[in-house]
Amino acid sequence: MKEEKPVLKGKSLTDLTEICRHLGLEAYRAKQIYVGIYKSRYTSIDQFSSLSKETRELLKEKTVFPEIQLGRELISKDGTRKFTFDVEPGKEVETVWIPSADGERKTICISSQIGCTLNCAFCATGLLEYKGNLHSWQIIDQILQVEKIVQDRATNIVFMGMGEPMHNYFSVMKAAHILHDKEGMGLGARRITISTAGVVPGIHRFIDNKEPFNFAISLNHPNPNARSSVMDINVKHPLEKLLDAARRFTQELDRMITFEYVMIPDVNMGKENLDRLVKIARSVNKCKINVIPLNTDFTGWRRPTEDEVRDFVSYLRQKAGVPILNRQSPGRDINGACGMLALKGVRNENIH
Ligand code: SAH
Repeated sequence: MKEEKPVLKGKSLTDLTEICRHLGLEAYRAKQIYVGIYKSRYTSIDQFSSLSKETRELLKEKTVFPEIQLGRELISKDGTRKFTFDVEPGKEVETVWIPSADGERKTICISSQIGCTLNCAFCATGLLEYKGNLHSWQIIDQILQVEKIVQDRATNIVFMGMGEPMHNYFSVMKAAHILHDKEGMGLGARRITISTAGVVPGIHRFIDNKEPFNFAISLNHPNPNARSSVMDINVKHPLEKLLDAARRFTQELDRMITFEYVMIPDVNMGKENLDRLVKIARSVNKCKINVIPLNTDFTGWRRPTEDEVRDFVSYLRQKAGVPILNRQSPGRDINGACGMLALKGVRNENIH
C-alpha cells in the first residue's frame, strides 16, 4: 500500500520530530520547521532558509505543505470580514475576522467542522450538509490565511464558527496548543476560547486534561425539557449533567466558565426562564453570562427589541450576582454573526 505523505502544517513539535526521524533528519530540524510554519509564517518550503537545499528538496518530495483555498470574502459596514475557504474541493467552511470598534481587540472566529451534526433550532449552520471534521492544519490555516489577507494579527481566537469543537476534540486541542505555544503562534491561553453546545464528555475531558483555554457553554435555555426542544444535544446530554460538568470545571480548574445565551422572545426570555437562569448562575457561581440577541430569521422567531434586551439584562444584573455581558452582533449584514454561518450571501441557494 502506498503511504500517504505527512502534512507538515497543524503538527505539534512532537509530531514533527517523529516525521523528521522517519525522514532521517536530525531531531532539531523539527524545531526549525515548527518555528518556520507558525512563528515565521512561511508559506512555502523554499522559505525555510535555516534548512539546507537538500533538506528542503527532501521535504518537498516526501511531505506536503498545503493551504486552504480562499473562496469569497464579504466585508461588513462595521469592519467585520467573512471568508469562505475550500479546505478540500467541495468542502467549504467560513471564518470571520472581527475587529473591535476601538481597534484593540481583533478576533478570528474559526470553524472546527464542515457543517455540524447538531441541529440547534436557531442556528443556520445546522441547515448545511455535514461533511466531516477539519484536520488540525485546516483549523490553523484559517488563522494563517486570514491574517495574511487582512495583513494583521489576531489578538483573540474563538472556536465559535461552524461545527461542534467537542466532536473534533483531538484536532481542536492540537490546534489550540499550537496557537498558545510560545514557539508556535504565541497567544495567551485566555485569548483562546473554546465553545460547546453541551457535549458533556468533552467538558470532562477538557477538565481532566487541565486545558488552559477559556471555555464557554452555549446554554441557551434554562428549562430542561424546553432546552431539548431547541437543542437536540440536550436529549443525549441533559441540562443537569451539563451543569454538573460546569460546576466541576469551576471547582477543579478554579476558573470562570462562560454561559452563552441566545435571547429569543417567547422562547427563553420570560420571567420563569429568567428566574431559572438566575438560579443556574447562582448554583455555578463562578460564571459569567454572555447574552446575544437572535441573529437569524429563518426560524420563524423574531429578534428581541432593544427594550426587551435591556429589561432582560437589567433583571439578570440585579439578581444573578455574576457578570453579564450584552454582546453585540458584528457582521450581521454579511451573515457573519453568531448562528449565521451557513454560506449565505456566498451561495444563496443554501438557505430558503
Ligand atoms: N457548537 C459550538 C460552537 C459554535 S458557537 C457551540 O454551540 O457552542 C456559536 C454560538 O452562536 C453559540 O453560542 C450559539 O448558541 C450561538 N448562536 C447560534 N445561533 C444563533 C443565532 N441565531 N443568533 C445568535 N446566536 C446564535
